[in-house]
Formats: sequence, C-alpha cells, structure tokens
Amino acid sequence: MIPRTIFEPEHEQFRESVRKFFETHVVPYHAQWEKDGQIDRALWNKAGEMGFLAPSVPEQYGGMGLNFLYNTVMDEEMAKLGLSGPGFNLHNDITVPYLVKHASEAQKQKYLPKCLSGEMIVAIAMTEPGTGSDLQGVKTTAIADGDEYVINGSKTFITNGQQADLVIVVCKTDPNAGAKGISLLLVEAGTPGFEKGSNLEKIGLKAQDTSELFFQDVRVPKENLLGEEGMGFVYLMQELPQERLSIAVSGTANMESILQQTVDYVKERKAFGQPIANFQNTQFKLAQMDSEITAMRVFVDRCIELHVQGKLDAVTASKAKMLASDLQNKVIDECLQLHGGYGYMWEFPVARAYADARIQRIYGGTNEVMKIIIGRALLAD
Ligand SMILES: Cc1cc2nc3c(=O)[nH]c(=O)nc-3n(C[C@H](O)[C@H](O)[C@H](O)COP(=O)(O)OP(=O)(O)OC[C@H]3O[C@@H](n4cnc5c(N)ncnc54)[C@H](O)[C@@H]3O)c2cc1C
Repeated sequence: MIPRTIFEPEHEQFRESVRKFFETHVVPYHAQWEKDGQIDRALWNKAGEMGFLAPSVPEQYGGMGLNFLYNTVMDEEMAKLGLSGPGFNLHNDITVPYLVKHASEAQKQKYLPKCLSGEMIVAIAMTEPGTGSDLQGVKTTAIADGDEYVINGSKTFITNGQQADLVIVVCKTDPNAGAKGISLLLVEAGTPGFEKGSNLEKIGLKAQDTSELFFQDVRVPKENLLGEEGMGFVYLMQELPQERLSIAVSGTANMESILQQTVDYVKERKAFGQPIANFQNTQFKLAQMDSEITAMRVFVDRCIELHVQGKLDAVTASKAKMLASDLQNKVIDECLQLHGGYGYMWEFPVARAYADARIQRIYGGTNEVMKIIIGRALLAD
C-alpha cells in the first residue's frame, strides 16, 4: 500500500476519537435507524458535544476553524464503517460552509453556534420535481414584497429534509434573469407556509432522511437572504467542488473498506474443498480492484491536498467525483459477486454498500453532468 502523506499526527488522533464515537453511538443503532428511515435526532447533539460538527466554523463563533482534512477524517470513518445514516457530510462539508462563507455577521451569530452544537441541522434545497441537473431551471420563486420575500414552489430529494431546522433554498428572485436571477434564502423550519413532505423511500441510504419540501406564500424577512441577491448561482458553482470532493472521499474510503472485507471473506469461504481465495479468478479480481483503488487513492488524496491549499478547481473536483463514484460502484459489484448469495443479504455490509453506492453517481451533479463540465473545459479556447 502506498503510504498516505496528507495527514499529521493530530488528524490521526482526531480519527481515533471519531471512530470511537461512531463505534459507540452509531454502529449499535444503525440497523434500527434503517428501519426507522432516519437516525435518532439526539445523535446530532452528541456529535456536537464532541466537537464533530462543522469543523470549519471559525473560533469567534465557538468553532475550531479547521481545514477540510478534519472533514475528510469524519467522512472516511463513516464510510469505512458503512454508516450512511448520519447526514453529517452534508452539514459539515456542504451546508454549513455556505453560512461560513456567505452569511452576514448577524446570520453567523444567530446560526453558527447552533450548527456546532447540533441544535440546528442545515439542509440545502436545490432540486425540484421538474429540475435537477439543470439548476438554472428552478421554478421556486422568492418575490420581494416590502421588507420580505414571499417564497412559492417545491423541492424534492432533500437530504436531512425531515430533521432540518434551517434550509438554504435556491430561489428565483428575478424569474426573467436566468442564472443571474437566482438567490439563496434561509428558511427556518416552522415558518408559516413551509411544509415538509413525507420521508421518501429509497433503495439505499435507508437511515438517512430525504424529503420533499413545500413552500406556499412563505414570508421571510429580507435579512434571510444569504449573500447578495442574484449571486446564488455563483455561490453554488463555488461550493459544488467541495461537495463533489466529499463524495469522492467517502466513495474511496468505502471501497477500500469493502475490498478489505472481501479479502477476509474469500480466505474463509470454501468451495470445491478449498478457500475461494485460491481460485485464480478471485485473485485476478482482487488484484485488479486493489490496483485501481490505489490509483484512485493517490488522485483523491492529491485533490484533498489541493483543496486544503485553496487550489482545487471545479473541473478536477468533477473528475474526482465521477471517477471515484464509478469505481466505487464497479468495485462493490465485484465484491458482492465474490460473496455469492451472502452478498445479496442485507445483513452483509457489502449488500448495504451496494445499495448505498448507487446514488453516488447521481447526486452532487450526475456523472453525465461531470462529463459536460470536463468536456466543456477541454474544448474551451
Ligand atoms: C438520496 C438523494 C439525496 C439527494 N440530496 C439532495 C439535496 O440534499 N439537495 C438537493 O438539492 N438535491 C439532492 N438530491 C438531488 C440530486 O442532486 C439530483 O437527483 C441530481 O442532481 C439529478 O437531478 P434529477 O434527479 O432531476 O435528474 P435529471 O436532471 O432529470 O437527469 C436524468 C438523467 O438525464 C441525464 N442528463 C440530464 N441533463 C443531461 C445533459 N445535458 N446531457 C446528458 N445527460 C443529461 C442525467 O445525467 C440523468 O442520467 C438528492 C437525490 C437523492 C436521490
């Protein structure tokens, strides 16, 4: 194995405490949460107490102002243990960073301490029933009316949607201005006219809540605008690379872990009087997967390093998301095959990983959208 060079001893210490936390507070309950369709809300508060939420929040708001390496450690430990329920990646890697970067001082004072403690879960609502890949096509409007915006529309597939206390809603403040008419608005749960739909039933991520959200004449004060009016699309484009890197990080750690579990399994499982590890087909499959994962690990680690230095560009992040999620799906499919019928049983981590991995090629921008971004950049003058 090629040694990883991006972490320092303090990250490994953090990793140890994160892992202990997950083993104690999540592993024993995860199967039940899968049946419940969501995790226990109290886990957020426990994670907050341990300092595991929103590592990037600056010290003046009670946070630690840590870089993405700490997010990486959290993401990796969850992925290795197959804990797809807690929507911490979304909160830590995607939504809270919007507040850190774009919120006003008053918004930061109001929300960030609660994001750290777990009192406030933040979701982001871009996708609508009629549009996902084409973000410019959102129909939800936020029309100015005196000191307020009036929001109308609906969103779907929103991660942490059931439990969210605050939602960053992508709206058109000027429906005739295309991308320049898009703005981000903060809507708190309980605001009149804002309703959460049912918890959507999915083929994977069973313990993670995913919801439709409805907005009918929802009035929010103008202070709830995140950043500047009309800049929403620009902010989305700025933040999506971190979301895409986060997907690559989880996917890579997940496939490494599943491969290791498969190596252990093939040594134990016997067929025709010998461990299935003895068959050349098994060895060739494992060798191929291990080699491809090694190459992916080097690339993803380099992307993490570049991101921490503020140098990861959107195109490279798209490549990482696409390649890592494609490989994750391929590897897990092969690993499942090596488990035979047991691989199809829900109690086996490889079966859960198979179901969980599928979405990685879809959310955060589909892999086809990643190809559009990469192709466009290649062909640009
Ligand atoms: C479990 C889960 C969690 C999610 N969490 C969130 C969340 O928290 N917040 C949020 O806003 N959204 C979330 N999403 C939504 C997700 O980001 C979208 O599903 C995704 O962006 C794709 O959009 P769509 O479903 O509308 O597919 P569509 O855009 O309808 O795409 C359908 C197919 O057409 C392809 N396609 C589209 N345009 C092109 C093109 N120009 N060229 C070639 N092919 C194209 C796509 O690649 C895809 O294969 C989540 C989705 C799921 C399932």
